[in-house]
Amino acid sequence: MVQQSETESRKLLGRLREEMASEGAGQERLDRITHLIADSMQTEVCSVYLFRDNDTLELCATEGLNPEAVHQTRMRLGEGLVGRVAKTRQIVNSANAPQERGFRFMPETGEEVYSSFLGVPIQRVGQALGVLVVQSKEAREYSGDEIYALEVVAMVLAEMAELGAFLGEGDALAPLHQRAFSFDGGIGQEGNSEGRVFLHDPRVVVTNPIGDDPDAELERLRAAVDALRVSVDEMLRSADSDNAEELQVLDTYRMFANSKGWMRRMEADIARGLSAEAAVEKEQSGARGRMSRVPDAYLRERLQDLDDLSNRLLRQLTGQGRETGAEMPDTPVLVARNIGPGELLEYGRGLRGIVLEEGSVGSHAAIIARAWAIPLIVNAKGILSEALNGDPILIDGDRGQVHLRPDEPVAAAFRDKLAMQAKAQERYASIRDLPATSKCGTTVNLYMNAGLIVDLPSLKSSGAEGVGLFRTELQFLIRNKMPKRSELAQTYNRVMDSAGDKRVVFRTLDIGSDKVLPYMKRQEEPNPALGWRAIRVGLDKPGVMRMQLQALIRAAAGRPLWVMFPFIAQFNEFRDARQHILDEMAREDRLGHVLPEELHVGAMLETPSLAFAPRQFYEMADFISIGGNDLKQFFYAADRENERVRRRYDTLNVSFLTLIEQIVWRCADTKTPLSFCGEDAGRPIEAICFAAMGLQSLSMRPASIGPVKHLLRRTNLEELRDVIDTARRSGVQSVRPAVMDWLRSSDWVV
Ligand code: PEP
Ligand code: MG
Repeated sequence: MVQQSETESRKLLGRLREEMASEGAGQERLDRITHLIADSMQTEVCSVYLFRDNDTLELCATEGLNPEAVHQTRMRLGEGLVGRVAKTRQIVNSANAPQERGFRFMPETGEEVYSSFLGVPIQRVGQALGVLVVQSKEAREYSGDEIYALEVVAMVLAEMAELGAFLGEGDALAPLHQRAFSFDGGIGQEGNSEGRVFLHDPRVVVTNPIGDDPDAELERLRAAVDALRVSVDEMLRSADSDNAEELQVLDTYRMFANSKGWMRRMEADIARGLSAEAAVEKEQSGARGRMSRVPDAYLRERLQDLDDLSNRLLRQLTGQGRETGAEMPDTPVLVARNIGPGELLEYGRGLRGIVLEEGSVGSHAAIIARAWAIPLIVNAKGILSEALNGDPILIDGDRGQVHLRPDEPVAAAFRDKLAMQAKAQERYASIRDLPATSKCGTTVNLYMNAGLIVDLPSLKSSGAEGVGLFRTELQFLIRNKMPKRSELAQTYNRVMDSAGDKRVVFRTLDIGSDKVLPYMKRQEEPNPALGWRAIRVGLDKPGVMRMQLQALIRAAAGRPLWVMFPFIAQFNEFRDARQHILDEMAREDRLGHVLPEELHVGAMLETPSLAFAPRQFYEMADFISIGGNDLKQFFYAADRENERVRRRYDTLNVSFLTLIEQIVWRCADTKTPLSFCGEDAGRPIEAICFAAMGLQSLSMRPASIGPVKHLLRRTNLEELRDVIDTARRSGVQSVRPAVMDWLRSSDWVV
């Protein structure tokens, strides 16, 4: 292999472009391309490996290795040197490949005679598509210049693959964005739906990776970068000069936009024959690769800035992007990297589903999706690089799966499932106005969780007896500045009006941890979930909480008022918080406002410590609601936001049920009404077990009320309690298997 000059590199790209325009099937084209690269780079072997599925690579074309091995040789992601390049998206450059750690000998290829190996990832905006490899007999490391040349070629191959240039027989050569794909993710909101993809932020497609005239491309790049710099300066000028954080972010942003290194690298890529947009994309891919490897959160965010700038540049150069004018399909399924609650509210309830590449179950966008009963899948890795506007998509929100461009058998099975669910909905509607009374005669009160005025119509449609948890922070989160007391009072008043004589339990502001108000200074904390959040903020800086309490008192005006404080960990926190509301009552009275007819002050039990609080706490609280989402995370020391550990511990674990039992006893002792308002209350199996353990009120998403009531009405809670206790005595970890066996052995099936 000889040194690749810029002229040679351009010549090679020119020939690749001719290939792109040439007739013929993808396989022939790919064969000619490997030949061209080997020839131009004067190397003995050039091979292209492409992904066959998410974790298998296939040798799709080669010059130099045994042609019989094409489409036969495969390796898993991470396996051998090729698999390592694909996995790490980093170059492997070795003078003596067979001696390298992880080298996998593949006799069918005949590669054992080649000593040196250079593999570069074929990637597009951080998505790995395959690996381009050159090999030669001579034992030597490739020079920086040679690596660079191969990277430029790999970039062009990535764009060609994206454009379907290698379309052919077999999975690995199937056109990108046309084959069926399934993704596993986390369940943000159960439910199934079928629709068409609508991308929140459509990807830019580079149709001309190779530049004709480097000077013209350079000029295009410079003009686009100049325009970008002007727009960043403009953003800085119009930024809020009091907001130091925003200014800081924009300043870093400007620094990147003016970075000489960034510009120099893109100019060098253009000199080697890439078009301006391909050069930007190559930089972006590199930054994404680095992003995935940087452990430091601060640095990752800075790389994110660079990514964002590249996106803006690409939009500028191609005229594509958010304003593509793509029409919203009739059955839109929103696909996005992440989405904020405000943006989601703008889309409204018309969405059939939401799939997020990142996101988390506890995010506020997720809470809104749940309130609207829109199926939501989070953490669907890879969906963004595959999905195109208008693609057919199925969401299986019960299993946490997404099927993109599904095959007919998958789609048919899915439709059968939808039909069965529609029947179930009819059943739930028929019992909507009936009480949730078990077979043994215990009535459980079913309430719904809410947080927005738009949720209130569900009170009627779900048959809920009231709102057991109104998350007031949503009203704060969807605004870009602190709401005024009068605005809050108006909102709470509307909520109480819509609920009529049904009870609404307002939880005071629960911020901190994952819920950060955009207009409040962010606290850098080593562990925010265990940090300064919820009532801790309310007690230390009571201004906002007092304002909220005043708004609630005014909104109630003569009606009963139910208020509960979140995240109480010890008695004095509750006592102090309660004193605040009593003080505000006295103040409002002095000011001549009509006071609530009754005041009920409760606490959320979300930390294990509160289960062991002094008896006086249980006597003082007018009611207690178990916030199972947080209680579980602290009980098991398993972050509720972390998909890796979230599901590791079962709610029906004997230890957790024993904790619940302890709380039930303590509340019974002081006759303190107790409810459960975490997500588990809405899962039918968990719900009947809680009821069997003695919980008489459950608060859940509106969509869960039908399924929970249906199961409760068919359950003998006394028998179930026996099943649970027998299982507990037997030394099992979770009572779930015993409960499931018992349900199956009954004359009806769950
Ligand atoms: C809980 O922790 O269970 C709860 C209901 O509160 P949130 O999910 O809003 O933290
Ligand atoms: Mg909580």
